[in-house]
Amino acid sequence: MAARRPLVVGNWKMHKGVAETAAFLEALLQADVPGSVEVVVCPPFTSLPHAAMLLTGSAVGLGAQNVHWEDHGAFTGEVAAPMLLELGVRWAIVGHSERRALFGETDDTVVRRAARAQAAGLDVILCIGETLAEREAGATLAVLERQIRGIGALDPAHLVLAYEPVWAIGTGRNATTEQAQEAHAELRRRLAGTFGAGPAQRLRILYGGSLKPANARELLAQADVDGGLIGGASLDVDSFCAIMRDAAESAAGVDS
Ligand code: PEP
Repeated sequence: MAARRPLVVGNWKMHKGVAETAAFLEALLQADVPGSVEVVVCPPFTSLPHAAMLLTGSAVGLGAQNVHWEDHGAFTGEVAAPMLLELGVRWAIVGHSERRALFGETDDTVVRRAARAQAAGLDVILCIGETLAEREAGATLAVLERQIRGIGALDPAHLVLAYEPVWAIGTGRNATTEQAQEAHAELRRRLAGTFGAGPAQRLRILYGGSLKPANARELLAQADVDGGLIGGASLDVDSFCAIMRDAAESAAGVDS
């Protein structure tokens, strides 16, 4: 079975204007980005044009933190997939738990955003994850099942799932290796039901939630953890690079 290439994605949230983006990316491009790992950064919308210019010709991919389900129209504050593609953006995050909790996104709007993004030519990172109350009520797998119910409409070849337990995001409290592997394995089992065994084996499932150099190695070494979606630790180039190296080591472990 082909090993999945690890994917390490930095979600900068509402951090880093153009000057800070430039400083970060100049440092990242000086660093040794391991070829065995795919690396993507997702700055705020306003930093995307400058980031695209700096990343032209590099192996580092560029993503947006959201994308709308229409190409144009009366949607104040939204950004459409063709606008992102025009800049050189190739990835979009959809369904981040902050979008769901603070901006009213639903399972339905998340899938609509993802579908339009894919149709326009973007690869999509679709975020899912349970709250602490849901985990404590034993509802984790039921919540994940509900959140991925609509994804049969999507193209698995241009889809990445990010399992991000809400209680682990920005809290410093990461999922244990067992919790992460259990959720990822169960997700892959359900993906096989939706897309078939081959596509489910190829589809990358990232872990997100307080991933940092201190815990990356063990989390990324789990059989069904194919990389990370990283918030806080992606803002510092040294931490981000350390996580990239851990991802490369986990890939080497799979190959050997
Ligand atoms: C995220 O924003 O997707 C995330 C996982 O944040 P953090 O790494 O800060 O928990």
